[in-house]
Amino acid sequence: MATINSVMGPLDTAELGFTLPHEHLVDSSAGIRVTYPELELRDKVLDMALESFNEAKAGGVDTVVEVSPLDLGRDVVLMREVSERTAVQFICCTGCWLDIPRSFWGRDKDFIADLWVREIEQGIDGTDIKAGVIKVATSDPISEQEELMLRASARTHLRTGVPISTHTPTSSRIGEEQVRILKEEGVEPHQIYVGHLSNTLDPDYHRELARLGVWLGWDINSPHGSADLPEWRERTDYLKDRLDEGLAPSMMLSHDWNVVLSRISSSGMSSREQNPDGYLWISRAVIPRLMESGVPAVVIDRMMVDNPRSYFEGARPTD
Ligand SMILES: [Zn+2]
Repeated sequence: MATINSVMGPLDTAELGFTLPHEHLVDSSAGIRVTYPELELRDKVLDMALESFNEAKAGGVDTVVEVSPLDLGRDVVLMREVSERTAVQFICCTGCWLDIPRSFWGRDKDFIADLWVREIEQGIDGTDIKAGVIKVATSDPISEQEELMLRASARTHLRTGVPISTHTPTSSRIGEEQVRILKEEGVEPHQIYVGHLSNTLDPDYHRELARLGVWLGWDINSPHGSADLPEWRERTDYLKDRLDEGLAPSMMLSHDWNVVLSRISSSGMSSREQNPDGYLWISRAVIPRLMESGVPAVVIDRMMVDNPRSYFEGARPTD
C-alpha cells in the first residue's frame, strides 16, 4: 500500500481499482487554451468529458492515468472538475512529450528536474494539483533534446519516487534504448512503463522488455489499424499469444484515447466514428475477445487492477 497523487489529492493505491494507465483528456499544445481558446472549445470539451467519463465509470473504469504533459495541452483544472463530477480518479503527469519547449533545450538535466519535482511536490499551474507520474517521449533514433528529457525524468523519479511512463514511436524497438538510458541514470526497470507496445508487433522486442523487468504498456490507439498496423482483432490475438508465453505479470492495457483532438489533420488519428466506445473499448471488445480465446478472468484482473497498483507502489512485475 502506498499513497500517490491524484488530481483530487492523496490516493491510497488500494483504491486504484480498474485502471487505464495511458489516456488523454484533451489532445492539444502548450498555450493553446489561453491564446486560441476557440481551438479547444473548453465548454464543449467539458460536456463531452463528463459524458465519456460518466459512461466509463458506469462501465467499470475506476482510474485514468492522464499522460498529457505541458506540450500536449495539459489542463489539470479541467481534469479535477471531471474527476469531481464523474468519480473517475485521475492521475496527471509532469514531464514532456515530443514537442519539447525550446526553453528546455540544452539545459542541465537537474535544472529541468527542479521544474518537474515542483509539479509533483507543490502543484501545477499555480494550483495544488500534483503530478503522480512522469511522462517522457522519444523518436527513433532518440534526439539530443529527447535524451535530455529522459535523463531529466530519471532525476525527477530518483528525487520523488514517482514512476516514469514513456511514449515510443510505431514500428520501433526504441523502448530498449530508453530503458538503457534510464538505467544508466540509476532508475530501476520496474519504475518504467514503456508505452505504445501494441504499435510494434515484434515478439522478440516484447520478450526482451519483459526480461529487462519493465512494465509493458499495451495502449492501443486505432481500433481499425493503419497503414503500418493490423486492425485490433489481429493485434488482440497477438497479445493473447504473448500472455500465453507468460508476459501477463508485466502487461497493462489502455486506449491512448482522448475526448477531443484539437488537431484535425494528423494522419492516422482515430476518430469517434472508429471507436464509439471510447474509454470502454477495451472493456467491451478487447477483454471479451481475450476471454473467448481462453484468457482467464484472473489474468484480466492482473493486467487491469493488480499491475497498475504494483507499478504505482514501486513493486516489481513478478509471476
Ligand atoms: Zn498517448
